Amino acid sequence: MLRNVVILGGGTAGLLMAASLRVKLPEIKVQLVASGTLGVIGVGEGSTTDFPNFLHGFLEIPPAEFYRAVKPALKLGIRFDWGPRSHYHYSFSGAMRQQVQPSGLPCGYVAEENIVGADLVTALMEQRRVFLQHPQGPWPEVKQTIGYHIENAELAVFLEGYVKRLGVEILEGDLAEVMMAGETVRALRLQDGRVLEADFLVDASGFRSELIGKHFKTPFISYRDSLICDRAIVGGWQRTFEPILPYTVAETMDAGWAWQIEHPTRINRGYVYCSGFISDEAAEAEFRKKNPKVGPTRVVPFMPGRYARQWKHNVFAVGNAAGFVEPLEATSLLVISHECRFLVTALKESGGDPTPTVVNCVDRLSGGLWDEIRDFLAVHYRFNQRLDTPFWQHCRREVALKGAESIVEYYEQNGPNYLAESELIKPIQSVFQLEGYWLHLVGMKVPHQRASRATETDRQVWAQHCAANLHRAEQHGMTVAQSLAVMHNPRWQWTPGFYR
Ligand SMILES: Cc1cc2nc3c(=O)[nH]c(=O)nc-3n(C[C@H](O)[C@H](O)[C@H](O)COP(=O)(O)OP(=O)(O)OC[C@H]3O[C@@H](n4cnc5c(N)ncnc54)[C@H](O)[C@@H]3O)c2cc1C
Repeated sequence: MLRNVVILGGGTAGLLMAASLRVKLPEIKVQLVASGTLGVIGVGEGSTTDFPNFLHGFLEIPPAEFYRAVKPALKLGIRFDWGPRSHYHYSFSGAMRQQVQPSGLPCGYVAEENIVGADLVTALMEQRRVFLQHPQGPWPEVKQTIGYHIENAELAVFLEGYVKRLGVEILEGDLAEVMMAGETVRALRLQDGRVLEADFLVDASGFRSELIGKHFKTPFISYRDSLICDRAIVGGWQRTFEPILPYTVAETMDAGWAWQIEHPTRINRGYVYCSGFISDEAAEAEFRKKNPKVGPTRVVPFMPGRYARQWKHNVFAVGNAAGFVEPLEATSLLVISHECRFLVTALKESGGDPTPTVVNCVDRLSGGLWDEIRDFLAVHYRFNQRLDTPFWQHCRREVALKGAESIVEYYEQNGPNYLAESELIKPIQSVFQLEGYWLHLVGMKVPHQRASRATETDRQVWAQHCAANLHRAEQHGMTVAQSLAVMHNPRWQWTPGFYR
């Protein structure tokens, strides 16, 4: 029976797993070891909608407490400065799912001119607003279509306090030895001599991947043939008069792309690039030229890919210890949320004694999640025509689409319709859904053979629809600053059960 779990790593991944275990399996003792010398990665600030739902739904962390302590900024999606348009918005609202009325044509067929304002959420993004004002007063109509921008260090501090309250024992120490009993791990010995016995262990040791990677020597599946970037420069500055944008920005750069992430008092930027095409010094120069306010910077190297197995014997890896893809769609917190749900549900449903089929099933689900993100990001690289630098020429020629190959082939022949949806993706599991792929292909103006399906009337109706959304967002939208001022007020009421 499962009685003791030891988690190696005190970053976001380890802390979220500790909270998940204690909330869903309160009879289990959880100890978490974090190195006092190695620290946490300290980057990772944008999320999708899954993360607030996980925090406040699955983990039941009260939003009011979280907002007061962590001060998240609110995010409706990502603005892509990408492809031939000046920009387009990837919202969490599935804008490409709509049809033009009355013809019923999927809207992707008419969005080559008008994609901004495709739905109310993208219209709010364009107008730099986050929610509509409530019809009954000056407060926001809060919807579930939001993700967060959060400072990684502040999140870790909050989660540390939270898991301690849940009864997790946090120990400072460095791993010295993995002690085995046959094929399973029996205990971890720390450098100060302490021995932590465990029935089950979670490897949350970040890129060091001490257990799944180093100890078990699990093969690493590289994603470099699809995702060629391997470094990031990060930096930022204190906000002065800049408005808080309700989205992350992803801007095309000479040898990669740059994010802009919004916090109430700070703006953080980072340049993800490929060391084969630009040196650290040249990347820093380009980054600084485009962001003259940026303060000190640091370089974070990374390796895109995942371990072939995430669950081995009595060890499960979570977060960067299991795999990594760059934050072009801000998906790491999403993956961690799913990993926590998968593991905790498997342990709970199996009464603490998971069978090999359960283990394999969780392993396949987790691996499939990473792979789908790789496939989705590969599409972003393969079709971005914005710049003609050697890096982007290479991407358009060489990037392997992997699982997205058949989706792109279908699109090129048929355009953005949903006839073959369940053939192209697994709708129940897909993070991005088919409309996510269509949004980017249409957003980047990738040609298809059925452009003639749209009539002039369809185009006019669609243009009016987009204009009406933009007008409504401008007239009735509230900014992030206005909305947060209300939501941080202790008298603000959260609807119980609002989050899943
Ligand atoms: C450039 C970049 C940008 C990113 N942007 C985003 C983003 O916008 N959105 C997003 O969701 N994610 C993003 N991420 C991912 C983000 O870093 C992770 O999602 C998240 O912070 C989880 O990290 P972690 O807990 O797995 O690892 P870490 O934070 O590195 O934690 C590892 C822990 O293990 C401990 N440890 C390691 N080895 C030992 C040892 N031998 N003994 C004892 N303790 C040990 C460390 O001390 C630490 O406590 C980004 C990552 C990078 C590199």
